[in-house]
Amino acid sequence: MTYVITQKCIGTCDSACVDVCPMDCILGPVPLDELRAIPAGERAARLPGIQMFIDPDECINCGACVAECPADAIYLDTDVPAAYRSDIRRNASFFLDRRR
Ligand code: SF4
Ligand code: SF4
Repeated sequence: MTYVITQKCIGTCDSACVDVCPMDCILGPVPLDELRAIPAGERAARLPGIQMFIDPDECINCGACVAECPADAIYLDTDVPAAYRSDIRRNASFFLDRRR
């Protein structure tokens, strides 16, 4: 099992989850300092579609990130709502692509 960030992160992507993760296994497509340099209200426009992802090989299922998310975007993979099931594969693919 692993936790998964769904597309509900898009449009918020405040990176609050990153700060509480004991495994440093939450990453996004741009470096964190670059993301945080952009004012929160401008991120959706300047980085369209950006969201964070959880590395399924590193996540220890502690659940700490869930309470931090203002978008309620994070779920245990077995509990992801049907509308967001494809995001389980998107999370895994993000890290597979990085390791290639
Ligand atoms: S469940 Fe824990 S280890 Fe997994 S991403 Fe969230 S904070 Fe990190
Ligand atoms: S806390 Fe939620 S909205 Fe913010 S980056 Fe993490 S998953 Fe996205």
